[in-house]
Amino acid sequence: MTTLPSSPARPTLIVVGNGMVGHHLIEQLVERNLHCDYRIVVFGEERHLAYDRVHLSEYFSGRDAESLALSTTEYYAEHSIELHLHEQVTGIDRAKREVLTPQARYSFDRLVLATGSYPFVPPIPGNDHDGCLVYRTLEDLDAIRDAAQAASTGVVVGGGLLGLEAANALRGLDLDTAVVEFAPRLMPMQVDAQGGELLREKIETLGVQVLTERATQRIEPGESSRLRMVFQDDKVLETDLIVFSAGIRPRDELARDCGLEIGERGGVVIDDCCLTSDPAILAVGEVALWNNSIFGLVAPGYQMAKVAADTLSLSEVEQPSTFTGADMSTKLKLLGVDVGAIGDAHGDRSPGAKQYRYFDQIEQAYRKLVVTSDGKKLLGAMLVGDNAAYDTLMQYYANGMELPKDPASLILPNTEGAPALGPDALPETATICSCHNVTKGAISAAIDAGCSDLGAIKGQTKASTGCGGCTALLKSVFDHELASRGMEVDHSLCEHFTHTRQALYDIVRVEEIKTFSELMAKHGQQLDDGSPCLGCDICKPAVASILASCFNEPITNAAHIPLQDTNDTFMANMQKNGTYSVVPRIPGGEITPDKLIVLGEVGKKYNLYTKITGGQRIDLFGARLEDLPAIWGELIDAGFETGHAYGKSTRTVKSCVGSTWCRYGVQDSVGMAIRLEHRYKGLRSPHKLKFAVSGCTRECAEAQSKDIGVIATENGWNLYICGNGGMRPRHAELFATDLDDETLIRTIDRVLMFYIRTADRLQRTSVWRENLEGGLDYLKDVILSDSLGLGEALERQMQAIVDTYECEWANAISDPEKLKRFRTFVNDQRPDPDIIVTEERGQLRPA
Ligand SMILES: Cc1cc2nc3c(=O)[nH]c(=O)nc-3n(C[C@H](O)[C@H](O)[C@H](O)COP(=O)(O)OP(=O)(O)OC[C@H]3O[C@@H](n4cnc5c(N)ncnc54)[C@H](O)[C@@H]3O)c2cc1C
Ligand code: SF4
Repeated sequence: MTTLPSSPARPTLIVVGNGMVGHHLIEQLVERNLHCDYRIVVFGEERHLAYDRVHLSEYFSGRDAESLALSTTEYYAEHSIELHLHEQVTGIDRAKREVLTPQARYSFDRLVLATGSYPFVPPIPGNDHDGCLVYRTLEDLDAIRDAAQAASTGVVVGGGLLGLEAANALRGLDLDTAVVEFAPRLMPMQVDAQGGELLREKIETLGVQVLTERATQRIEPGESSRLRMVFQDDKVLETDLIVFSAGIRPRDELARDCGLEIGERGGVVIDDCCLTSDPAILAVGEVALWNNSIFGLVAPGYQMAKVAADTLSLSEVEQPSTFTGADMSTKLKLLGVDVGAIGDAHGDRSPGAKQYRYFDQIEQAYRKLVVTSDGKKLLGAMLVGDNAAYDTLMQYYANGMELPKDPASLILPNTEGAPALGPDALPETATICSCHNVTKGAISAAIDAGCSDLGAIKGQTKASTGCGGCTALLKSVFDHELASRGMEVDHSLCEHFTHTRQALYDIVRVEEIKTFSELMAKHGQQLDDGSPCLGCDICKPAVASILASCFNEPITNAAHIPLQDTNDTFMANMQKNGTYSVVPRIPGGEITPDKLIVLGEVGKKYNLYTKITGGQRIDLFGARLEDLPAIWGELIDAGFETGHAYGKSTRTVKSCVGSTWCRYGVQDSVGMAIRLEHRYKGLRSPHKLKFAVSGCTRECAEAQSKDIGVIATENGWNLYICGNGGMRPRHAELFATDLDDETLIRTIDRVLMFYIRTADRLQRTSVWRENLEGGLDYLKDVILSDSLGLGEALERQMQAIVDTYECEWANAISDPEKLKRFRTFVNDQRPDPDIIVTEERGQLRPA
């Protein structure tokens, strides 16, 4: 074996490990021009150049190794950095200052270990069977994908952050998925018992079976599946593949073998300068143990890389940075469920701390604050189900800001005057992106230096290019800073589309773009390799709604399904015990006795709780996912259609009995309500739409609290628009008077289509109207006087929607492919035994 000498002119710096932190170190070295001072040699044992492990799971949803790559080989070549990929360092000879690989020995002057960690596989007999896998590298994901091809069930061992991410991946591979956790709850590091219980509930309703307090004793060949897990109580679970995600362990074997100081539970001991017990050798990232802690997140690794680069400087550094620990706060979306943990979220590290908790079983949200004994400072917070408060809480915590007088207002829903901590309230030192340690001040400075869009800010500061958790906060700080300088604020839909929702709507319509992927490819952001981005939770549902408003294709078509939320996916509203509600359309609230009998029979047959809703229809609660197609089959046979109670679309048209029965009635309100409901059913819009028709000015149908309210007059109909009930009620405004039937409908066509075209995402008609420049008068000009010449086009568009209406449920039950989604999740296909109900007032309700 040859020994390759270090260059006599320049000392050699060897970096072992080309993962996220190893690569960040290279960038930091280049930033300091240290690639000119050192001959830098990098070894990576994987085949791939450093890639974004944080977003590894996106490999299963379309991203490839290239698009996940954090750099290019050209970058390394340009900076004369020698890159040895697929070459594992197998030993370090400290006396000779050499590293060994199977190919050669390489001399070094300084060495950095950035070897990361490996997934811990518990020492369970049988853990090496075929089908037992881990989730850390691109190769691991290839192996999982291959194994999944011949599998129908999968189990993840470990219910922590990475375990749930792996579970989501298995679910995405169409496997019936279960998570087995040793602790009494999921994510025990981040959430407490109550939060864990809610998290479990939410994850189970998404179709993942959760088994806690289960210790696997052995794994053996299965009978009905490839493998069988035997637990401590001799219960068994059969599955085709098992993914171990039971924690990580530092890859400290090289350091251990060459005699560097190792922590009791592993990890290469480093000081504040990232130096190991041998000052020629540094360690960074997940392999490094600082102050007895391993940091399993990327942000602390990046901070270490910065410190290491300063430590390696050959010239005097003015203010060399030191590693002083890192905040482990996390904001995640796991299986679509928000979880946030800030600081001392459990409150067990802060003697004397006090807690506030808010638990909403209906909305399925849990929020907890841990505050100092005087209630002035935030020590920690926990969020399950809704991370909306995370950014604000994080700023109070990270900047030590004084809490409002009533700290509970930060976690209570819609408290009058709850102090929203806007970007203006943040000090310049507030950290916005913790992965790259970017402060509000740095963002201001970048704007002053000429960055005028978010892309430029990201390029300049790197903010939001790590885990991506600060994207929303970065945008709001950026917008605020622009506005405060009198510069134009960018109203892009999200980071993937530079267009507003309104502009995207026009693009979709004019260019007849019919899928999200086509829209992204033509008008969205692209990845560095030129392939389109995958989108996010903002743009996917917004575009789904636009596509439906324009072309009315069933939302359950394969191209549209990945864009929908859970309720739209299953065309039913999920209830708090994981069952679903079934709401058939009952136009105008009119129903025949025969149809009532069918509803009763279906309710009895499937043990459903029945309730008459405020929208004058009958809601059947408690349906199991696997029963939904059969229930809808029976309802559709009896002449019912979907009521779209789950969608951002037309809900109901409520009516009074009107002139047919009521002695005060001046018009047939029921007939008009039925006509309106049939016309606008299935219409998708930025938010839900409610209508009502009253037969006289006594207003028994409460039409003035609806988006579209119609009240009969002696001469026809008065039209009211943009009202709503709910949390912030708004009276509808009188828009036109004494309209005949046809004019009424034409006017509603125009109003609704103009709203659909011009509203923001998730904007109700009331807010749209309040934000409309020129107010009601402008709207009257556009709709009644046709000042923009749009009237006919708006009517035509509405007619196209009406003409293409199809009941989504009827469409789904006639398509075996679509029905596959409605199977129960448990591995043995039996109904979920955890759905427990109790009897109350003669009906079943969740226990
Ligand atoms: C699925 C998943 C999701 C995650 N999500 C998040 C998240 O949301 N937020 C977050 O902050 N963090 C997340 N993480 C953790 C994050 O990815 C790590 O903190 C980060 O990758 C650590 O970087 P590192 O360079 O220390 O280790 P790694 O990225 O693991 O890199 C180490 C590299 O060194 C190589 N290596 C090891 N030994 C040798 C050797 N002897 N010779 C040559 N090469 C060697 C390894 O093969 C590897 O490529 C996630 C991790 C995973 C797996
Ligand atoms: S609104 Fe008028 S017509 Fe309708 S029920 Fe009331 S009183 Fe009768």
